[in-house]
Amino acid sequence: MMTLLVTGGCGFIGSAFVRQRVAKGDTVIVLDAMTYAGHVENLNDVGGPGRHELVRGNICDAALVADLFRRHDFDAIINFAAESHVDRSISSPGEFIETNIRGVFVLLNAAMAHWRGRSHFRYLQVSTDEVYGSLGPTGHFVETTPMAPTSPYSASKASADLLVRAWHHTYGLPTITTNCSNNYGPRQYPEKLIPTMISCALASKPLPVYGDGGNVRDWIHVEDHCAGIALALERGTPGETYCFGGNAERNNLQVVRAICAELDRLSPRNDGRPHAAAITMVADRLGHDRRYAIDDSYAQQQLGFTRSYANFEEGLMQTVQWYLDNRPWCEAVTGKAVTA
Ligand code: NAD
Repeated sequence: MMTLLVTGGCGFIGSAFVRQRVAKGDTVIVLDAMTYAGHVENLNDVGGPGRHELVRGNICDAALVADLFRRHDFDAIINFAAESHVDRSISSPGEFIETNIRGVFVLLNAAMAHWRGRSHFRYLQVSTDEVYGSLGPTGHFVETTPMAPTSPYSASKASADLLVRAWHHTYGLPTITTNCSNNYGPRQYPEKLIPTMISCALASKPLPVYGDGGNVRDWIHVEDHCAGIALALERGTPGETYCFGGNAERNNLQVVRAICAELDRLSPRNDGRPHAAAITMVADRLGHDRRYAIDDSYAQQQLGFTRSYANFEEGLMQTVQWYLDNRPWCEAVTGKAVTA
């Protein structure tokens, strides 16, 4: 059993990871600044033989991070903490530079001080396929694809990946980086595509789709992503990068139509019309990358990575059902956003 520092563990993916690790018996210290995207509700149903403790604080606070490393003999730090929404990075890039770059610098320095003299410590950086830029109609990102970020968000994440790479190369810090495609699943904050569409549909609002709806993403269920991170942590080689994808390329319009079809079955509109009637094309996001897709054969070969949600539509059905069953969660987290 391990003692882990999980930063950003009150967010969408971090909380799913905490849930998996506590169920396995690990001790998890969660460090989270509780931004609009961090919610204590996300940890409500964490349970198992392990335990978790929430520390409210910022990864940029070097004294706080150093104190956590003094008080706990961490086997690893897994850094999920980030500003994660591309639209927000376009309107307000400063916070992305602060958390996604300077925060990682603070964590790397604290990890360095802790690691010296320990054989098993790992620093795991959770990153995104967006660092690789945009693909044409064919081809896939792999671990050796050169970074070519295009948005303030992806540029900040690529910068962090490069810092992590440098700390391994220069100082020998045992780092691992994972670059994953678009996640979906329970507890995703309703500003990202899938929960936004579900929330808008349930509130009888228009379903806004950027541009021509043809932007393609490779969708992976959050639990599969977290299982991949766990494999990288336990079996990965220091200094390596591992890519994870869902083998489920869909364009935005296909995703929104699939959500509408699920909602027509599970929660039909009062006026008898299909939910898809509310789809509304809106002006495209600035610099919107056209297509991302991951080939994760390297992670399959090296780590034994597999997907338990092999079928996107099945995973989507589970996700839509979760949002229908957890409306108080949506109200709690978006209510906070309104008053923040
Ligand atoms: P999220 O926005 O849901 O959660 C981010 C969490 O980090 C929140 O709990 C927030 O409070 C916390 N946080 C933000 N700034 C902080 C700071 N300065 N100090 C401490 N905590 C802070 O994000 P997510 O979707 O769960 O993404 C988690 C990680 O995975 C990010 O690093 C993101 O880049 C990466 N990633 C996300 C996706 C995706 O599809 N969502 C895909 C690949 C990689």
